[in-house]
Amino acid sequence: MDFQQVFGKPPETQASAPGRVNLLGEHTDYNDGFVLPTAIPQSTTVELGFSSDGHHHFYSENLNEEVSILDNHTPSGFASYIFGCIEILQKAGHTIPSLSVYVKSSVPMGSGLSSSAALEVATLRGLRQLLKLPIDDVEIAQFAQQAEIQYAGVQCGIMDQMASSLADTEHILFLDTRTLERRVMPLPEKAEILVIDSGVPRTLATSGYNQRRAECEEAARSLGVKALRDITDVEVTEKLPEPLRRRARHVVTEDNRVLEVLQGVTSERFGELMNASHASLRDDYEVSVPALDTLVELLQKTPGVFGARLTGAGFGGASVALVAAGEARSIATHVLEQYKQAGYTGQILVPSLELSDAA
Ligand code: ADP
Ligand code: MG
Repeated sequence: MDFQQVFGKPPETQASAPGRVNLLGEHTDYNDGFVLPTAIPQSTTVELGFSSDGHHHFYSENLNEEVSILDNHTPSGFASYIFGCIEILQKAGHTIPSLSVYVKSSVPMGSGLSSSAALEVATLRGLRQLLKLPIDDVEIAQFAQQAEIQYAGVQCGIMDQMASSLADTEHILFLDTRTLERRVMPLPEKAEILVIDSGVPRTLATSGYNQRRAECEEAARSLGVKALRDITDVEVTEKLPEPLRRRARHVVTEDNRVLEVLQGVTSERFGELMNASHASLRDDYEVSVPALDTLVELLQKTPGVFGARLTGAGFGGASVALVAAGEARSIATHVLEQYKQAGYTGQILVPSLELSDAA
């Protein structure tokens, strides 16, 4: 089913936005800290047209599902992200007519590669084009975050939406999540990105995430700062009681790792910082699981890998590695074989097998 088949006429316009993977700076965004995401090749495309019956109609090719908004109540599921974008724009004073929206995506959903931000940013880009709205890419990210918080009910930071709106696959985006100061930097030299899903679902991710957030807020309060981002000297965290000491130590050292990259580092050093990030997430922040530790260790000891760590909130989900350019596929095959022998089934997410098959 394409747009024409679902809605009976061709679309007026279309727009796309990529998913993202965070290379360094994990669990720092809700501490006002620093992050280093990059865009992935997979993207979401939204086709838009005007609806003639006065109601919004949204269709997802991935879910093969159509949702019509008849009473202006916030829908559940995928429609809430699109409806949220429309509502947030209206609240900001823009007039949005009734729309037909068709969504298709190559970003895996719920794997930590931010299909939700890709959907929001693609929707907002499409609306900007269709209605000639005077909004810039940073505003698109901010509207997208508000849509996700207020309409999809996810208490997310700004990283995913900024990455989807501002990053590309050839660069990494340094972002200060407090000031939104940012810098676009080239990927580390002679390197490419490998993302492997651990096959372990992110159970406990929400409760664990909320608990870590609360611990960080308590640590910041005890230290008399607005957020842990305001601590630069890790010694300062020593006076906290456990487990707050370990939690704060992760955030402070992780922020410092991102800031080191900002000074300019080799691929080897970038990899070491990723390895240190994983150890910190495992031992101090305690958000890893045995499967992710196994996968990351296998990656770290494979020739051609500069460094590897878990990416996303943890408690399952994906790993990210920086590897020698051109070697991601063969490294993945080798690592997934050993991972299988350890009793787990993983899957390569980036580079995308599907996209290259289609090309
Ligand atoms: P992630 O952003 O890591 O992929 P989330 O749980 O934040 O995981 O977002 C996934 C949700 O986003 C899906 O459950 C769905 O509601 C919505 N979504 C994203 N992409 C699509 C799509 N192409 N079609 C329908 N819904 C989508
Ligand atoms: Mg998401």
